[in-house]
Parts: sequence; C-alpha cells; structure tokens
Amino acid sequence: MNALLRKLRAVILADGPISVAHYMAACLFDPRDGYYVANPGLGADFTTAPEISQMFGELLGLWAVQSWLELGSPDPFALIELGPGRGVLFADAWRAARSVAPEFTQAAFPVLIEASPRLAAAQGARLAPLGIKPRWAARLDDAWRGPMILLANEFLDCLPIRQFVRTKEGWRERLIGLNEEEALCYCLDQHTLRDDALIPPALFDAGPGAIAEIRPSLEALIDQLAARLRAHPGRALWIDYGPPSTQSGDSLQAVQAGKKLSPLAEPGLSDLSAHVDFAALRRLARACGLSVAGPVPQGAWLEQLGIAARLEGLAAAHPGKAEALTQERSRLVDPSQMGTLFQVMCISSPGLCPPAGF
Ligand code: SAH
Repeated sequence: MNALLRKLRAVILADGPISVAHYMAACLFDPRDGYYVANPGLGADFTTAPEISQMFGELLGLWAVQSWLELGSPDPFALIELGPGRGVLFADAWRAARSVAPEFTQAAFPVLIEASPRLAAAQGARLAPLGIKPRWAARLDDAWRGPMILLANEFLDCLPIRQFVRTKEGWRERLIGLNEEEALCYCLDQHTLRDDALIPPALFDAGPGAIAEIRPSLEALIDQLAARLRAHPGRALWIDYGPPSTQSGDSLQAVQAGKKLSPLAEPGLSDLSAHVDFAALRRLARACGLSVAGPVPQGAWLEQLGIAARLEGLAAAHPGKAEALTQERSRLVDPSQMGTLFQVMCISSPGLCPPAGF
C-alpha cells in the first residue's frame, strides 16, 4: 500500500478525522513521502507558465527591472523567488534582465525560498551555468531584510487550505476520515464553528451547502512580507489561478500525468492545489498598510508588458520556431487557456507609483 496512505490511516484511526489542511500538508511535504519531497513531477504531472514558454520568465524579468528603477535602483537588493520549481522562471528572468540592464543583475542578490530539497538541487543545477549563485531559505522570514523584488508563480495555490461547509445549524469544518472499507473519505466535524470570523466576509450569508476555503498560513506570510515592505522599498508579484473575488466551492484538485484525479486517490503521488482567493490576499495586504494592484487576468497583463513584441522578435530570430512560439503565446494569453483563469496581483511598499502592466 501507498506509504503515506498507511501513515494517514494510522493517524486517523488513533486521533479521528484530519483537516483538509493537515491532509494537504502531509501529501505535499511529508518529510519522507510528500509529493514535493519524494516525487516532484513538475513538467510531467503538470506544466507551469515558465515551463510552457521562455517569454513568461523574460517578461517577468523586464517587469522586475522596471520595478527596480521605480524603487530608486537600490544596490544591493534581493531578487527573491518563492517556490521556484525547477528554476526556469528565475533563469529566464535573470537572462532577460541582464541583457537590458546589467546594473540590475550586478546589484541583485538572488534568494530562492524552497521547501523541497530535490527541487532546490534542480534550481542550483539550472542557475549555475548562468553564473547565478543563489542563497536558499526555507521561509521568507529567514531570507533577506532590505529592498526587494519578489516573484511567486503558482506558489500560493499549494499552501494548505481548510474547508468549511454551511449546514442548517451553521458552518462545519470538512474533514477527511475513513469509511467502512477504511478508505479515505470526506466527512464533517461534529461541532459547528464557534467563531464565524474564520469565514470570508463574502460568504457570511451563504445558504446551506456552500463551501468556504481559507489558507491559514497566508496571514503569517503577508505579515512577514509587510514587515519588510514597510521598512524598505519593495514589490511582490503574485501569479496564480483562482477567481478575482471570493467564491463558494470545493476547489481542491489533484493532478497526475496531466490528468485530474480525486484528491483522496493517491496521497503523495499527485500534485494537490486549490484556488487562490485574491480578495483575501488583497484584504490582508491592505490591512497591513501595503499598496495593492490587481488582480488582473494573466493574458491582459502579459499583453500590456509586450508579449506580442517579444514573440515577433523571437520568431524573426528563429523562423523555424515561429509556429511553436505563437502556440506558446496562445497558451499563456488566450481566455480559453491560461489567460483568464490565472490572475496577477502586485503588493508594494506604500507610496510607490503603480506597477507596470496593471
Ligand atoms: N514557480 C514554479 C513552480 C511552481 S510549483 C513554476 O512556475 O514553475 C510550487 C513550488 O513551490 C515548488 O517549488 C514547491 O516545492 C514550492 N513550495 C510549495 N510550498 C512551499 C512552501 N510552503 N515553502 C517553500 N516552497 C514551497
């Protein structure tokens, strides 16, 4: 039997059903059998925007240069990526930034925040040939204190969520227990929530059957970010999938070899993620006194940054690849593909001009 399933079953038999957040954290980062620890299938199970096209990371690199100028060209400053996967985004961004503004990469101190030792090794291998020697940190709090530009693509979606279901009596937490065959199954907490303050404001009055999702670790992350952005100039760019406003519904999903499967089917052997609630992100950042731009759809944002011009330049330099490059652009930008499902939001130190692309 799947080793992680055996472990989770023992925990549930001993202590009762576990929260969806507990389950997600174990599936992704169990120190031995978690997906990102033991089998990170980035590129095989799912494909992210920088893995689809170099144009994505390049445009983020140019956005970072523009942001650096807007911060007053601090030297040194940290170029931080949260959850860098295989390092593709960082490599493309660095390359593009260096070609237009070598003084930017000279001033930049590269920091990668990564929880997976395997992926950290892959990042090091990808970045070494470019002469990039990053520092790794496990948490933003252990990273840099000073001016910074932070990039995070598909990072927030894998932070664990808790789910609550509205019943006639009130909100109950959705838990994961065992059925009669001892297979994992969803169930509800016997008790209703004492404190409705956990529920996003937009869903306070939702009717029976509504499902609310919250990300408990988001608040601490934004607090850590705010402490830095209030003390020094900086910007953080978040790109992820999810609706621009809070929605009711179960968005937990599992992906393996490009196909969706039940999140309970293969713990630790598939990637688990859930929609990012951009309204919650905005609320937390504003409550800390930070400036927020967006969310705007990824497609519109990339168009604003000039993806059409970049495509034209690349296609002219590599005519044999023109068709493939055009398809890459469509995947990133078209509303039927990633263009509207993915949103872009920028959180900045107070008092800066609006960021590019919004
Ligand atoms: N940004 C990359 C990879 C996205 S996959 C890309 O666009 O291709 C998610 C990444 O976030 C992985 O590198 C994963 O190991 C990392 N990650 C997820 N949760 C994390 C956490 N709590 N702390 C640090 N890294 C985390």
